[in-house]
Parts: sequence; C-alpha cells; structure tokens
Amino acid sequence: MEIHKFQEMMKHLYFERDSARGVQDTFSWLVDEVAELGEELKGTDKEAAEKEFADVIAWLASLANIMEIDLEKAALNKYNHKCPKCQSSPCQCTF
Ligand SMILES: [Zn+2]
Repeated sequence: MEIHKFQEMMKHLYFERDSARGVQDTFSWLVDEVAELGEELKGTDKEAAEKEFADVIAWLASLANIMEIDLEKAALNKYNHKCPKCQSSPCQCTF
C-alpha cells in the first residue's frame, strides 16, 4: 500500500471525527503519539515500538487530511531521491 492509499483509508475511517476535532487538537494527539514512540524506543519491545510507529503515521495522516495535504506528494516533492539540502544521494551534508 502506498502512502497516498493509506491516507485515503484513514480519511474513510476517521475524517468526520478528525475534521470535527480540528487541526490543533489533532496535532496534540500526534505529539502525544510521538512522545509514546519515544518512550518505547527506550525499551527493547520492538512489537510495542512498531505499534507506536503505526499510531504516529495514522495521526500524521489524519492531520494531513484535515489540512488537505497529500502526504505522499509532499514527501516526494521534498525528498525525491536526493537530499533537499545538498542535492546528493546518499546525503553528503556535514553535521
Ligand atoms: Zn544532504
């Protein structure tokens, strides 16, 4: 399944509730899920971490749906087989 299709599935499942909740509250949920992922990364339970990754992309898709942003298009516009900063693949940026 492509990112676009996943986002469409999330729209079918949750758009009514997501749009009623609005951008700020949906963003808060996304932030909470990112924090939960961060907690799981401290441990060794890969299955639990996997579920948190799922929640993060689900809430990101919900937020993008409310904002009418196509996640796949946005991601590929910025990261299209090369680093957006140095234009290289793999990235050659110095940190
Ligand atoms: Zn780079």
